[in-house]
Amino acid sequence: MTQHSDEFILYDLRVEVIAGKGKMMCNHKVGDFFELSGENLSFPAGQTFPIYPLAALLPLLPAKQRQTHENDWMTTDTDIGCPDPHCAGIFRITRTGERVFRHSEVSAVPLKK
Ligand SMILES: [Zn+2]
Repeated sequence: MTQHSDEFILYDLRVEVIAGKGKMMCNHKVGDFFELSGENLSFPAGQTFPIYPLAALLPLLPAKQRQTHENDWMTTDTDIGCPDPHCAGIFRITRTGERVFRHSEVSAVPLKK
């Protein structure tokens, strides 16, 4: 495999609903999940996901995709609570793998080298 000098790595992510204490108020069930690879979200066929927790999760995902310092809470913390304070839903973000991207394939801005 050829090494290109403009390569970088992002983690693939899986976000899965786990049970917190109390009742699920939103339309997400334990075990529901979606995955993020690069810029692409994917959902299992036929599974839906409510927009309010999705909106709360989205800002965290690009940071979680990137390599972070071992002392950074972004590295260690995996569970995000549902934004509905009455909902028991917790969303566990797992780094499932590493994917190599090339700057020249994802950006029109030239690298400064
Ligand atoms: Zn919820």
